[in-house]
Amino acid sequence: MTTAALPPHDDVNLRQAVIDTAAAMNALGINQGKAGNVSARCDGGFLVTPSGVPYADLEPGDIVFMDLEGRYRGIMVPSSEWRMHLSIYQGRPAAGAVVHTHSTFCTTLACLREPIPAFHYMVAVAGGTRIEVADYATFGTQALSDAMMTALGPRRACLLANHGMIAFGADLRRALDLAVEVETLARQYWHARMMGTPVILGEEEMAEVLRRFATYGRQPKDLPPGTPQALEFPTKLD
Ligand SMILES: [Zn+2]
Repeated sequence: MTTAALPPHDDVNLRQAVIDTAAAMNALGINQGKAGNVSARCDGGFLVTPSGVPYADLEPGDIVFMDLEGRYRGIMVPSSEWRMHLSIYQGRPAAGAVVHTHSTFCTTLACLREPIPAFHYMVAVAGGTRIEVADYATFGTQALSDAMMTALGPRRACLLANHGMIAFGADLRRALDLAVEVETLARQYWHARMMGTPVILGEEEMAEVLRRFATYGRQPKDLPPGTPQALEFPTKLD
């Protein structure tokens, strides 16, 4: 992502999109009340939801700008979890937006310190063969941020012990979609565990799934010329 392509910190549309994404977390049932927070990368840093304000009451001017040194500008203080957002923008150039929630099933597994293994091939949606749990650290601390970065590794989502989950993507829509997907996986895994012992897919099969995910969900016309097709498309009639 090049800095030149990013909207400025006073971009009203991006600020509104951060609010809409935060509201969508609750509407989709992956967050409750004022827990959780949302951010989006902008020129020179990122825009993040403020601390302790109900999403329904937020206006674009309430969204807080932070630079990549952790300094903020705005009429409100940033979310108490600003350090996790900052660490992701500092350390993951592909991250354009971050969604952090206390979604019920991710939090349930996180309280048990149980990662989500490859019980379903869709675990690869987070970029790896399982979704890890970050070691416990007090909310809002650099220790939590460091533990989260370790648990993320090359992936785009992880659980946070005795806390919740966090996911990032190229933009707000992708970050929110991934958070919903990971919560769905956590729910399915929980149900499977209630019924018995899920069969875990092997590393070889998951490597094949990851290879196919490189072009998953994209139409052939949207891929750069010469991109090897991981999926087998049916024969086109017209
Ligand atoms: Zn939290």
